[in-house]
Amino acid sequence: MAWQGIEGHDRVAASMVAAEAQGRIGGSYLFIGPPGVGKAAFARALAKALTCLEPSPGLVACGRCRSCVQADAGSHPDIDVVAKPEDRATIPLESFIGDAAHRMREGLCWRLLLKPAVGGRKVAIVLDADHLAEEAANCLLKTLEEPPPGAVIILVGTSLERQLPTIRSRCQVIRFKPLPAATVERLLTKELARAGDETDLAAIAAAAAASGGSLDRARLLLDAEVGVFRVRLLELLSRRPLAGVALARETTAVVEAAGKEAAPRRARLATVLAAAVEWYRAALRHAAAGERPADPALAAALDSWNGSAEEAAASLDCTLDALDAIAMNAHLPTLIDAWTAVLEAPRLAQAS
Ligand SMILES: [Zn+2]
Repeated sequence: MAWQGIEGHDRVAASMVAAEAQGRIGGSYLFIGPPGVGKAAFARALAKALTCLEPSPGLVACGRCRSCVQADAGSHPDIDVVAKPEDRATIPLESFIGDAAHRMREGLCWRLLLKPAVGGRKVAIVLDADHLAEEAANCLLKTLEEPPPGAVIILVGTSLERQLPTIRSRCQVIRFKPLPAATVERLLTKELARAGDETDLAAIAAAAAASGGSLDRARLLLDAEVGVFRVRLLELLSRRPLAGVALARETTAVVEAAGKEAAPRRARLATVLAAAVEWYRAALRHAAAGERPADPALAAALDSWNGSAEEAAASLDCTLDALDAIAMNAHLPTLIDAWTAVLEAPRLAQAS
């Protein structure tokens, strides 16, 4: 049985349960792992279990007490969640210490100093820790080093390299792995059934297989528009010379079809780029070890690929850079143009 309904992270859960049983729950954690594998959900479940008024052994929240009800409603006064606003490149300083007029009279660091309102603990969750600017990070350092008694701070990020060394060294690092494809498939099936959506089991299985262990990506791949475009994308990427103009035009069209808002557009471009990353990795694995992907679209792309391993490696690098740029709120049309231009001549780009 999965701990608190969290699937795919039994090892992490077991280590937390053991730490709690031995009274060794730390004050500062850094959760690291790919996007969409459930780190934030795990952090919230942990916060709920730690603040529950009547927990069962094994760090299991009762689900019925005042604390659990508030945790489920997202209104718990002792569970503080801070994230990067959609329209900002970093988490603003005021999220931690209040705005200029309320310095250290508002914000996460200040709230952590208050006595717990419900039970014996306070939990702070900092999502998007990849986007912690130095000034804000500095404000957090003291809190991370000496959390108030009973307080637990959980930072959630995607890679250790993206965290400032000062933050890294003050936290206990907990690693989250990509979910197994079977878990993604099961979670997605459950989710769609709950939403009352008609479930196309074959489509769910295909999305799960191509998701790289990320539930977020699987959800996007299930989006018929993206699923269809992925096949076309692989066709375009595997042909040399690469038709850069067509790739840019078709990518832009599918990104704009995601809606008028910036967030869904960014999410969709991230899925497109993630599919490209998956393709170049498959091409490299094939070049290095003769490995053939099980996914039919990838296998077909491999059959028409006549580029070199160096080209695939350089294209992979620039695609990963483009993915990073989305997270930094890059202007999407410019990003798409730059990405396709580099793909068109990856070796030239490396030489320059
Ligand atoms: Zn409870």
